[in-house]
Amino acid sequence: MPSPHVMNTYTRLPAAFTHGEGAWLFDEAGKRYLDALSGIAVSTLGHNHPRLVETISAQAGKVLHTSNLYRIPLQERLADRLAEISGMEEVFFCNSGLEANEAAIKLARFYGHKRKGVDLPTIIVMEHAFHGRSLATLSATANRKAQAGFEPLVPGFLRVPYKDMDAIRHVAARSHGVVAVMLEVLQGEGGVHLVDESYLRELRALCDVQGWLLICDEVQCGVGRTGKWFGWQHAGIRPDVMTLAKGLGSGVPIGACVAAGRAAGLFQPGSHASTFGGNPLASAAALTTLDVVAGEKLLDNAARAGDAIRAGFADALAGVPGVADIRGRGLMIGIELDRPCGELVARALEAGLLINVTAGNVIRLLPPLIFSDGDTRTLVEGLAPLIRDFLSQ
Ligand SMILES: *Cc1c(COP(=O)(O)O)cnc(C)c1O
Repeated sequence: MPSPHVMNTYTRLPAAFTHGEGAWLFDEAGKRYLDALSGIAVSTLGHNHPRLVETISAQAGKVLHTSNLYRIPLQERLADRLAEISGMEEVFFCNSGLEANEAAIKLARFYGHKRKGVDLPTIIVMEHAFHGRSLATLSATANRKAQAGFEPLVPGFLRVPYKDMDAIRHVAARSHGVVAVMLEVLQGEGGVHLVDESYLRELRALCDVQGWLLICDEVQCGVGRTGKWFGWQHAGIRPDVMTLAKGLGSGVPIGACVAAGRAAGLFQPGSHASTFGGNPLASAAALTTLDVVAGEKLLDNAARAGDAIRAGFADALAGVPGVADIRGRGLMIGIELDRPCGELVARALEAGLLINVTAGNVIRLLPPLIFSDGDTRTLVEGLAPLIRDFLSQ
């Protein structure tokens, strides 16, 4: 029986894992599961990666935490590395996705007050968006069910349909006080939806004309998952602010709010803070994650494995009534069915496959970036029959 002393905020599946190896997890009975979820896009390097284990162990034997009251050389190195791979300028470190987005929202408001003389700054956000569960990020999130009971929400957000440039141009023509547009270039929780590159380029241009910050929430799709370091790199643009978390430490909690151009240089001592943010252990884990992604050519692997998984399912599910769409980019994959399919998660677990269903009817796959050809075959051969059976029942 689960302990009654853990607050009841999750409907948990009846499995507990004791250890992992690569893309595989093992439960208390020794049964093994192929991890096609990575703890929701977290375990970038899979489980028990020797380089990461070595880094964390060695750092634990030196120092875990010092405080941002002192210089933290590992944090500085990580900031340099993030600047290098993103072409952006400066990084605020925190511990989670919502914290990174909270920092981005505060930065956008600060930009409005300090640079644009706007008293009541507004941030444009998207339908189906997910940005977190703190009051500000929940207000930016597009899930009424998640918001219900937590009102009053934080004001200052204006919602538009995803992928609809005209809606944003309409706002630009009418609204005063807009300071930023915030979006996921590839929505995760909302159902694995992606914008096309031309939309992102037009949005970038509009933000430049209007003097708005473009904020990309890369908490789920960032750190190599789409086959490039960051999702926006596919469109050849650069945002003013991006947020990272989930995959950045490959399991060690760390978040980052990265700024460039007109969003850089705004925060000063006292503007924002985090006790734990960017501590030596988390920074070391993130540095090693980035090193291994580069060294083991995991960007290429994410692109290739993702293509193979989508092609595999397209093949295995060809002509199956009820399969509405197979989409995604790299190792962020959605298989949309024409009906709610949450029960597939438990059936997959039974079959030794860890998957997720989001937005009610979208099977979401977020495998670790080390996913091999064999893992891909195991996933497609195991999951496609479950989907076929489910749809024919
Ligand atoms: C998961 C997620 C968040 C929130 O991250 P937490 O670490 O759970 O606070 C924010 N944005 C996106 C796009 C996410 O997928």
